[in-house]
Amino acid sequence: MSLCSQTAHQLHTQLKNRNITATQILSDVYDRIKQVEDQIGGYITLAEETAFEAAGIIDQRLQNGDDLPKLSGIPVAIKDVICTKGIRTTCASKILANFIPPYDATVIEKLKKQGVIIVGKTNMDEFAMGSSTENSAYQLTRNPWNTSTTPGGSSGGSAAVVSADTAILSLGSDTGGSIRQPASFCGNVGLKPTYGRVSRFGLIAFASSLDQIGPFTKDVRDSALAMNAICGYDPMDSTSAKFDVPDFENSLINDIEGLKIGLPDEYFLDGISQEVETSVREAISQLEHLGATIHRISMPHTEYAIATYYIIAPAEASANLARYDGVRFGYRATETNNLESMYKLSRSQGFGPEVKRRILLGTYSLSSGYYDAYYLKAQKVRTLIKKDFDEAFEAVDIIVTPTSPTAAFEFGARTNDPLQMYLSDIFTAPSSLAGIPGISVPCGITKDRLPIGLQFLAPPFDEETLLRVAYTFEQNTDHHRQKPQLN
Ligand code: GLN
Repeated sequence: MSLCSQTAHQLHTQLKNRNITATQILSDVYDRIKQVEDQIGGYITLAEETAFEAAGIIDQRLQNGDDLPKLSGIPVAIKDVICTKGIRTTCASKILANFIPPYDATVIEKLKKQGVIIVGKTNMDEFAMGSSTENSAYQLTRNPWNTSTTPGGSSGGSAAVVSADTAILSLGSDTGGSIRQPASFCGNVGLKPTYGRVSRFGLIAFASSLDQIGPFTKDVRDSALAMNAICGYDPMDSTSAKFDVPDFENSLINDIEGLKIGLPDEYFLDGISQEVETSVREAISQLEHLGATIHRISMPHTEYAIATYYIIAPAEASANLARYDGVRFGYRATETNNLESMYKLSRSQGFGPEVKRRILLGTYSLSSGYYDAYYLKAQKVRTLIKKDFDEAFEAVDIIVTPTSPTAAFEFGARTNDPLQMYLSDIFTAPSSLAGIPGISVPCGITKDRLPIGLQFLAPPFDEETLLRVAYTFEQNTDHHRQKPQLN
């Protein structure tokens, strides 16, 4: 089996036994990139030189007989919304085309401390706004399972490179579903941690009360390893939580006997594709067969989640994106002769259409006269949505739902209808608003050979139960062993 198609934990064992080197793993990943990246377009920037330097250092340490952490020498891809010192970070926007961060995000510092090798920066929807990666100012990313379909979004590049074996694992960010939905489209494991679990320092802000960084991996064990590496309180992020971080590998227990799993009525309504529903229902029977008990629950405010999310997220975005004015960093229009036209032109030339739409929506809902009717109302509904989850978790340990109502869709299928695109987030946005953790794992394949994702949701800071149920499901099924057929 090629090195690039293996998991981090498999590679770690071979590194530890000195059967392979970090340089060999990285060479295999780069060979794979040379072979398939033209078809996939997962990366905006590759960091080949610094990656091989870092791998050389790991190999030296291995030769010296050092004991290395589990992610040492593992090639990892990073969504281009996370700042990497010395490596261009564009957010897939023209406005940051030449931005080279002078510092590392906290998650990057943490990964580097582990000896992780950064392969490159992955494509995404501009400023993480979208569900298909079609909003990138640079390129399309194609789904490795079928290159005429999207990889989902906004972390489409991070999802695609893990499935195409052009990275062993990757980091993405999830504001309303941007880790879980692309993981389901590309057939891998995507985990959005509890809001506050992972530092957002150095994550370029989209909607600060929702954004959270998390991993894409080839299996659940790697997800636990990545979580061990990135979680924890950070004095640089006032919203990061002072909560102990357990060793998430200890949660990988193949046993869900007696676990109470809730099935919300509101997540199995019209609009969900027949094939998705069938696979998810089969997965639920499987969970029951493994000893869990299934309980019907109701989350009555689910139907307001998309409207609420698409008021709150753009409102926060409109404030966060005010900093791109062409003065201190980023794109600056040249053909101007006064300050105001410099601002105007830099912003109108630098931002793409979806980002502009969000800024307009957000500015409108925050403006005087509309604030109470939209923003304030949305905040109140957000509290009700959170209450639905609190009440549900009094009765059950875990909630199970489809990750997305459909499998991957074709390019262009939803670009002319923003509302249709927004509805892709219908099963992920509510939990983002509630701040709770969620994971998507593969649970089937459509007739057209496109992956289907199953979503588990847990109470705040209970990623341990989330990982345990995902692990048990994975270990007793073989959906995760299916691979896309790429030449
Ligand atoms: N698709 C959603 C949006 O466009 C979610 C994006 C995300 O989670 N970053 O806002």
